[in-house]
Formats: sequence, C-alpha cells, structure tokens
Amino acid sequence: MQTSNFASGLWIETACPAPETPPLDGARKADVVVVGGGYTGLSAALHLAEEGADVVLLEAETLGFGASGRNNGQVIPTYTRHNPDDVVRAYGAKQGERLNRWVGGSADLVFDLIRRHDIACDATQQGWLQPAHAASRLAGLRAKHDQWAARGAAVEMVDRDTMATMTGSPIYHGGWMNRSGGHIQPLSYARGLAHAAILAGASVRCQSPALEIRREDGCWRILTPRGTVDADTILLATNAYTDALWPGLAQSIVPVRSFHIATTPLSANIAATVLPGGHGFSDTRQSLWAFRKDRNNRLVTTCMPFTPFGARRTLQRSTLARLRQAYPQINDTAFDYVWDGKVAMTTDRLPRYHELAPGIHTGLGYSGRGIAIGTAMGRFLADRALKGHGTEPPVPTAPLKTLPLHDLIVPLSRFLVLYYRWRDARA
Ligand SMILES: Cc1cc2nc3c(=O)[nH]c(=O)nc-3n(C[C@H](O)[C@H](O)[C@H](O)COP(=O)(O)OP(=O)(O)OC[C@H]3O[C@@H](n4cnc5c(N)ncnc54)[C@H](O)[C@@H]3O)c2cc1C
Repeated sequence: MQTSNFASGLWIETACPAPETPPLDGARKADVVVVGGGYTGLSAALHLAEEGADVVLLEAETLGFGASGRNNGQVIPTYTRHNPDDVVRAYGAKQGERLNRWVGGSADLVFDLIRRHDIACDATQQGWLQPAHAASRLAGLRAKHDQWAARGAAVEMVDRDTMATMTGSPIYHGGWMNRSGGHIQPLSYARGLAHAAILAGASVRCQSPALEIRREDGCWRILTPRGTVDADTILLATNAYTDALWPGLAQSIVPVRSFHIATTPLSANIAATVLPGGHGFSDTRQSLWAFRKDRNNRLVTTCMPFTPFGARRTLQRSTLARLRQAYPQINDTAFDYVWDGKVAMTTDRLPRYHELAPGIHTGLGYSGRGIAIGTAMGRFLADRALKGHGTEPPVPTAPLKTLPLHDLIVPLSRFLVLYYRWRDARA
C-alpha cells in the first residue's frame, strides 16, 4: 500500500516522462508570468506561447503536483450543481449563455488539445456518464439533459438496462450521458501540456515557488528563491493550492480534501464486466461515488472519509463495502494506492475569474470539474493577457471576496460529508 504522498500516487507510475523544467535562476523579463503548473497554468502558457508571447511559468514543486496530478481523470463538460437555465437566471441571458457555451465546449477543448499536440495520456472521449443512484434523482437528470440538449450539446438519456450494461453495475436507475466527456491519465495530460508549451517557446520552471509580487519600475516583479521575472502581466493559476502570495485569494475558496483509491488490477474476466466500454462516471450522490478503470484495469474511485485519522484502514474498509455494493462481482480486492488532493470549492460551485490588480488575473474554484474547465480557463486567461479587456470573460468579473470565518469553514467542511451521506440515503 502506497501512501498519499504525491510521488507515490498511482498516476506517477504510468505517466509519460516529464520534460526538463530547471528552476528559475537569475533575473529575466517576460511578457507574461504564469504561477502554477497545473492545467490552468499550463493551458495558459501553451496558448500564450502559441501566439508568440514570451511566457515564463513558475511551479513551486513539480508539474501536476497540485490537483492536476491527483484527480480521477474524468473530463466533464457540465456544472457540479447547476443546470444551464439556472445560470441564465443567475447571470442573465447574454452572460449566462456565454458561460453555458464555455462550459459545454470545455471537454472538446481538452480532447482537441490532446489530438493537436499528440499528448499520450490514455485519452478516451466516448462519453461521461451520470447514473441516478435513486429513482427520485431521474427527474433532475432529465432536466439537465433537456436543458443541455436544447443548447445543442451531444447528450442522451440512458435507460436502466443500458446503464447497467455500460457501468457493469446493477444498482443504477438509468441516467444521462454527455458524449463529449471522457477520461484521461491526469498527470500525463499535465506533462503533455507542458511538453507542448515548451515546444511552442514557453519557459517552464519547476521548484520555483513565487514568493512575492512587487511593483517595481512600472511593471510587476515576481521573486523566487534563486531568480526574479519582470512582466506587465501575471496569471495566478494556483487554485486549491493557493498560498499567501496574493492576500485573500486562498480565503476566497474552500480547499476540500478528497481521497482516491486504486485497486490491484482486476482479473481479465472481472474487468470485462466492469465499465466494459471504458467509460467513467460520477453518480448523483453528493458524497461522491466516481469510478473509472486505468490502463492496467485498476478500478480508481473516490472516497470522502469523515475523519483523516486512521484514514488508510478506514478507507480500505469502506471502499471495499462500496465496491461490493456497486460491483458485486468484485467480492474481494486489495488496494495498491491511496492518495489525496485538494479540490477548490466555491460556495455556489461556479468558477471564479478575478482581475486582482491591473495586469494580475486569476481563475479558480472549479469545484471538481477542473480538467475541462481549468483548461478552458487557462485559454481565457491567455486571451485576457494578450487582448486585455477586448475579450469577454466567461464568468462575470467579480471583486475578490474572502469567505467569513474561513479558518473554521475548512475543518468544518468535513462534517458536510455526514450531511451528504444522510441526504444521499434519503433520496
Ligand atoms: C482527488 C481529486 C479528484 C478530482 N477529480 C476530478 C475529475 O475527475 N474531473 C475533474 O474535472 N476535476 C477533478 N478534480 C479537480 C481538478 O483536478 C482540478 O480542478 C484541476 O486539476 C485544477 O487545476 P489547476 O491548474 O487550476 O490547479 P492545480 O492543478 O492544483 O495546480 C496549482 C499549482 O500551483 C502551484 N503553486 C501554488 N502556489 C504556488 C506558488 N506560490 N508558486 C508557484 N507555484 C505555486 C501548486 O504547487 C500546484 O501545482 C479532482 C481533484 C482532486 C483533488
């Protein structure tokens, strides 16, 4: 059993090699500095370099060290909570539909980038499933489907028998599928974006934490332990791993700790019955049940323990119980990997874009949908850096708002798991 240390997580075992990313050394200038080497930052750096900008990306640790190297790999072009009509109600028709188009097209952006840059990340775009864990949830999924269908999305309802065949699980009541979704090897995708960005001319520097941002000689200066970069524009792409670099940014989202667990490879005959078409899914539970197989037929699933104390053993026990329920054909299995990461949640589960100061931009708070939406945010941030206010933000620009009692919210958010389980059981 490996521990939750990033370097011993599942994805590092099967990821494509990382490019050379030496630490920043000495003083230099750039057009744009990107802080954070996950999907948001790497997508921004790639899009900027492709447009000929001189861009330096600073990552405190290694590529994909944050959530981008630890997630479940499901590429999901929908909101965590809202339906498209809710977004129109909240933001008005023009802004709401812009956001709907942006979110709805985000998975295609991911898979287009993968194809265009030949990124070897076990990508499969054969649809993302959301099964109903209770019959009462079907009406909500039907509304989701209908509202996305009305906007031309490639979605379909899936009846109970077909869902049982597609998931290989007998417990679901049907559901819906978004055909533009799919899954990837998360760390390979991050490394592949970095390869592409470097090839396009970006300078990607790992082990280079941005320690301070200063206004010097009419531009921004970022200080790292061994070097500095001066630029007119800075893009902060640090999401749930945000530190104290910009006052109040870390306090504007709730970093929720989420655990993942991977079984030993399933035997060929069992693997043929579990997600036989290679789909991935997250069901309608708020306490998060998501499943996918990796290239070695390990089943990779989420778990949200109430307490992290003794988490490894508790997690294995509760995950085995859950597997026996969802996949009775897996009567017993061992778990080879358990790891965790931080998910950046917002109070309304919608992403945020802020212009923190003239020339300093950030996008964050994807609430568990950041593979597709983070990639799209990176492209938008690149556009903003290049074209300034000539490009419309996909989400309304809002002033940075810190959450009251943030220090308390973070530990208390754990109690939500109990509430979610209670709600899920009563659905
Ligand atoms: C366990 C788990 C499962 C998930 N499953 C899914 C899923 O299946 N589908 C999905 O769409 N989303 C999923 N997510 C969410 C998704 O992974 C994230 O939304 C996405 O990776 C965010 O990318 P990012 O680039 O914005 O941030 P990150 O990938 O977190 O990158 C931020 C980076 O900033 C760096 N950094 C921070 N401060 C500094 C500094 N001062 N200087 C330099 N660097 C700094 C960090 O080291 C980090 O590498 C999951 C998340 C977790 C944790």
